[in-house]
Amino acid sequence: MSRVYNFSAGPAVLPEEVLREAAEEMMDYRGCGMSVMEMSHRSKVFDDLLNETEADLRDLLHIPDNYKVLFLQGGASLQFAMIPMNLMKNRVADYIVTGQWAKKAYQEAQKYGTANKIATSEDQTFSYIPDCSDLPISPDADYVYICENNTIYGTKYKQLPNTKGKLLVSDVSSCFLSEPMDISKYGIVYGGVQKNIGPAGMVISIVREDLITDDVLPGTPTMMKFKTHADANSLYNTPNCYCIYICGKVFKWLKSMGGLEAMKERNEKKAAILYDFLDQSQLFKGTVRREDRSLMNVPFVTGDKEMDAKFVAAATEAGFVNLKGHRSVGGMRASIYNAMPIEGVQKLVAFMNDFEKENR
Ligand SMILES: *Cc1c(COP(=O)(O)O)cnc(C)c1O
Repeated sequence: MSRVYNFSAGPAVLPEEVLREAAEEMMDYRGCGMSVMEMSHRSKVFDDLLNETEADLRDLLHIPDNYKVLFLQGGASLQFAMIPMNLMKNRVADYIVTGQWAKKAYQEAQKYGTANKIATSEDQTFSYIPDCSDLPISPDADYVYICENNTIYGTKYKQLPNTKGKLLVSDVSSCFLSEPMDISKYGIVYGGVQKNIGPAGMVISIVREDLITDDVLPGTPTMMKFKTHADANSLYNTPNCYCIYICGKVFKWLKSMGGLEAMKERNEKKAAILYDFLDQSQLFKGTVRREDRSLMNVPFVTGDKEMDAKFVAAATEAGFVNLKGHRSVGGMRASIYNAMPIEGVQKLVAFMNDFEKENR
């Protein structure tokens, strides 16, 4: 068996311990004589697994009791619609557009009411987070929306926006569980799990209870109401059982690693190895304003498209894969999620250093 160092932005690297455990349980999950993929979502075994998974997530994030945890399908992208359908009582919402994902959410919200773009960093290819300390928040806004870590551009909010008392909704897909967060500051926190947690095909939405009501926009499908899923403990219809199972294992792995404080420390250390190299390199350079750098997604360029392509090819050959930047920005991007070991980043930097010596 040979594993590569996988820098994919998502679906992405998973902890080896988790993969090994899942492989061991594939034919027979804990004496059931079947895999989790094959069992009823109404079975006691699965119900226990679901409840334990939720409890572990609540532990990791210290989720307050007045928040529901929902395991939903449709990915993060379906939340772009589900959020306005459930929250846009005044049909007004404010969006801070810091990248493609925030932009897509903003565009989707326009279908349901007035979505205001109250700040953006598009003028400089989304390479920074705008000052959000005193934005023109709409008096009747139902919520203020952000994408907290911008997967494609590699920026991260280091401070939450001043919403002037309005509800904050945040897409945390690519920084989910990378560090502790104070859930009580948000109305909704959600993320697709295929970036930093588990396999593709599921989104976890953490929703404050008072926002879960029957008072949704007219015509909202049953499956798009938070209340449908909250009332049924995420079992209104068949959930993504196997994804829940793997996420549960990742939650246990995170606990065994010391929880989110320890992950934050580890992630800071890991990211610093790469950023410190980029800051002194004569060939490679980071593309993001220093104070807004993400710990999870690190974009960089040489400034020469051919050199970028040569680097990506050489890196792939050497076992460092999926380093090509997003098709909308080019260059390179190393996604160094929780499951990327420190050695992976150390070895990548050593490889970049050698490449630089040979190509300068
Ligand atoms: C990947 C990503 C999405 C889209 O996720 P899907 O599950 O494919 O819908 C949304 N937001 C962010 C921040 C992402 O990184």
